[in-house]
Amino acid sequence: MTGLSDSFQRPINYLRVSVTDRCNMRCVYCMPADGICLIPHQEILSYEEIQHVAEAAAELGISKVRLTGGEPLVRLGLPKLVQMLSRIEGIDDIALTTNGMLLGRYAAELKMAGLRRVNVSLDTLKPERFDAITRSSDKLSVVLEGIETARKVGLTPVKLNTVVMAGINDDEIVDFARQTIDEDWHVRFIEQMPFGADTSSFIPASEIRRRLEPLGELEPCHYAIGNGPAKYFRLPNAKGTIGFITPVSEHFCFQCNRLRLTSDGKLRLCLLADDEIDLKQPLRQGISQAELKELIAKAVASKPERHHLAENHLPHNRPMTQVGG
Ligand code: SAM
Ligand code: SF4
Repeated sequence: MTGLSDSFQRPINYLRVSVTDRCNMRCVYCMPADGICLIPHQEILSYEEIQHVAEAAAELGISKVRLTGGEPLVRLGLPKLVQMLSRIEGIDDIALTTNGMLLGRYAAELKMAGLRRVNVSLDTLKPERFDAITRSSDKLSVVLEGIETARKVGLTPVKLNTVVMAGINDDEIVDFARQTIDEDWHVRFIEQMPFGADTSSFIPASEIRRRLEPLGELEPCHYAIGNGPAKYFRLPNAKGTIGFITPVSEHFCFQCNRLRLTSDGKLRLCLLADDEIDLKQPLRQGISQAELKELIAKAVASKPERHHLAENHLPHNRPMTQVGG
């Protein structure tokens, strides 16, 4: 293994796999209220096919995998996939992004299967608001219990993903940040990306930071807390951290280290660009490992330099749930 890099000399070592486009929530910034048109089950990659892609990717230099969706835990037997991936030579970090609803049920099994860490989406600490944002019913306590279970079984650090929206949850920015002082909370404030729904609620990270000023100066964390683009800080003497993810106001494409595998088997080079390379058909036609590696390497070479949200170029072909956020 010599390491994989794209034509802009960015090292590519991280694969995000959307294991399903299905979800048990309907978050306002991600999905329409009546859901999306679902991909037929036979068009979704099997666990064996995902394993095949991950093996080829690992031989090329991918060492980190994150499972996402849709909601990855609604796919039956996810711990089995984790176990299959954890046995691949070269993959040393398997993580999961989840809405947390089924985390309490599966955390221990996932840990035993080889999962290292989880990120949980949590946009509010208020029960009624939680139901309104996720279009679910009485689920905040279930998610909070799931987070605690994940901590107890050692899926740590548990990071919380909070999409900040004006007039919806921006009055809780300080509440979330305060939790990091006494508790080992790792909160990441995410700028809302213009997928689907109304984005008049967009707030830039600079404004989120401004709202945190009364809590004291944010000290940069100089060690890496994850494999992604978040910039991390700590409030004075805080146990936990505060991260900012700024896909809109300050793109981080120059340090992008990732590839995405969609639930229906397309290799996607950028979350915010439509270009994809189909792997499913070649997989189903019996492509060899060497040919698969060649296909992936060729795809990586075509990874775009950056996204063009600032110029209003939006991806059109898929909802976030198919690509894997
Ligand atoms: N269902 C899982 C969950 O919610 O964590 C995994 C999939 S979800 C698409 C992955 C992440 O994308 C979540 O943290 C979610 O908050 C984020 N996300 C979804 N739509 C977004 C948007 N329009 N802007 C910013 N982040 C978004
Ligand atoms: Fe489902 Fe996650 Fe999208 Fe919410 S953000 S609708 S939980 S996929």
